[in-house]
Amino acid sequence: MSFAVNSPPAVRHFPLSRSSVCRTPRVTMVARSTTGVSVSTAAALPILTKLQNDCATPLPVLRHVADAMATDMRAGLAVDGGSDLKMILSYVDSLPTGNERGLFYALDLGGTNFRVLRTQLGGKEERVIDTEFEQVSIPQDIMFGTSEELFDFIASALANFVKKEGGKFVLQKDRSRETGFTFSFPVKQTSIDSGILMKWTKGFAVSGTPGKDIVACLNEAMGRQGLNMRVSALVNDTVATLAGARYWDDDVMVAVILGTGTNACYVESVDAIPKLHGHKSISGKTIVNTEWGAFSNGLPLTEFDREMDAESINPGEQLFEKTISGMYLGEIVRRVLVRMAEESSLFGKDIPKRLRTPFTLGTPNISSMQQDTSDDLEAVGSILYEVTGMDSNLDSRKMVVEVCDTIAKRGGRLAGAGIVGILQKMEEDSKGIVFGKRTVVAMDGGLYEHHPQYKRYLKDAVKELLGPEISSNVVIEHSKDGSGIGAALLAATNSIYEH
Ligand code: ADP
Ligand code: MG
Repeated sequence: MSFAVNSPPAVRHFPLSRSSVCRTPRVTMVARSTTGVSVSTAAALPILTKLQNDCATPLPVLRHVADAMATDMRAGLAVDGGSDLKMILSYVDSLPTGNERGLFYALDLGGTNFRVLRTQLGGKEERVIDTEFEQVSIPQDIMFGTSEELFDFIASALANFVKKEGGKFVLQKDRSRETGFTFSFPVKQTSIDSGILMKWTKGFAVSGTPGKDIVACLNEAMGRQGLNMRVSALVNDTVATLAGARYWDDDVMVAVILGTGTNACYVESVDAIPKLHGHKSISGKTIVNTEWGAFSNGLPLTEFDREMDAESINPGEQLFEKTISGMYLGEIVRRVLVRMAEESSLFGKDIPKRLRTPFTLGTPNISSMQQDTSDDLEAVGSILYEVTGMDSNLDSRKMVVEVCDTIAKRGGRLAGAGIVGILQKMEEDSKGIVFGKRTVVAMDGGLYEHHPQYKRYLKDAVKELLGPEISSNVVIEHSKDGSGIGAALLAATNSIYEH
């Protein structure tokens, strides 16, 4: 075997900074047994084999997950707390049709950035006449400040954005501006335009908001800014994605986010929601937010998953999310590599401190390593060295790629089984409505968008489960940035004015 000791690592496939790309990974030489398999590889091999067995997702496992997803959905619809799946009512009863007209805004708060967007809609003929957006990062002191400070900050950014309105953006006479509000934190929704914040997550620790209606908080802040705008629709990112995709395609019935976290929502018949006492919907339909990240039934989990879960801030919770979403795939791989490093000398005799640090290896790193098609896996070597400080040789790099593939494959295939579970539930209630015709699942999120193998595994699993005939009717489609415009569209469909 030859090692490319002095050539620079390939730069095509991995997103490292310029300076880091110029570094050359160190390559370890390993002792070889008489069989030609390096001694250290032989010691790591049983760990890989066990991992592959524990993560296996043959058809019966996928089928079990899909069936259990459908059953849990039903239990969650029957009564609050009836299953792992919360099956939250979004209060979105009507989806965009394409007939929407006028100027609408959207505000998206779900992480350390928030986005403001405006769109001018021109009905079926002109559709989206123009769209503009701005992204604003939220300063640390605001993330740890008071509720009033946070909402004043947001309202002031929104007011500045509104000041720049012009060109093709025209507010109809005698109307207030209306906005959709995509808010991706746990909210107990009470109507389409109100919801109580249960708790902050994702690093936010703003005092005074939990327990309050966030729409009221925003409305008050907009009032203080002298901004005449009302929040017409409060939604989460999954619901906004469904609305954004539905605007272009009437067959969209499900939306799935696979990014840092994961979630799914779908179009449900009001009649199929026993826990919905007295809620009226003119369309007879409503969007249900499954919160499927909490699903846990029959998942093929490994000791590495269990350890990661036990050390997480929410042990025993969000197990589906911990198995399939972007926040965790890299971390699971890192834990496997630590075990391999401990039990073999595959990566040299010392285990770098960085490899021992949780979450050093990100899912984008996993994806980049899986894209390396070079003979000596130089990009893999570079990423391992740059990110974790690990030395590697061709054998150990191959082993790492196998580990990455095993975890990505399990994640993608389980996500696919989850999607089939949702479709199955819909089909059981209304025969032929889903499987008898074209049905679109709108997908969004960084993991789905940027990890080609994951996406392929997901689609393969859907095909395997549904069979060739039905799966030819199921379109799994990336809806890029549908959520921004989706929230503006929902502001339009829920406008207080006629449209
Ligand atoms: P969020 O989910 O935080 O709203 P995104 O939808 O943009 O944001 O998803 C970002 C997540 O997507 C990252 O946290 C990461 O886990 C995953 N991701 C980003 N790029 C890649 C990539 N190249 N390969 C695999 N996963 C990626
Ligand atoms: Mg997002």
